[in-house]
Amino acid sequence: MLQIPARGLRSLRKRKIPLRTCVGCGEQKPKRELVRIVRTPEGHVEIDPTGKKSGRGTYLCPKRSCLEKARKGKKIERSLKHEISPDVLDKLAEQLPADVDDE
Ligand SMILES: [Zn+2]
Repeated sequence: MLQIPARGLRSLRKRKIPLRTCVGCGEQKPKRELVRIVRTPEGHVEIDPTGKKSGRGTYLCPKRSCLEKARKGKKIERSLKHEISPDVLDKLAEQLPADVDDE
C-alpha cells in the first residue's frame, strides 16, 4: 500500500503550476485550463486534448470568444506560423463550449 502523508500532499498542491498565455485574450492561465491547438508535422491544425501531440502548439481558453479574438487577429496563424483555413477554425469552434458567461 502506498501511503502519502497529508503534509506531502499539501506541498504537492502548492507546487508552481505551469502557466500558458491564451492566444486570444492574452491572459496567463494554468496550462490545464487552456486547450492546446497543435500543428501536426503533417500540417493539420487541430485541438490536442492530451497536450502531448508532437508539433508546434499554442494555447487558447476553451471559449469561443477567445477563438474569435485569435481568429480576427490571425493570432493562431502567427503563433503556429501556418495558414489556417476558415473550415479548420470552424471545426475548432465546434469543439469549444459556447460561452455561458463571458467575463
Ligand atoms: Zn483567452
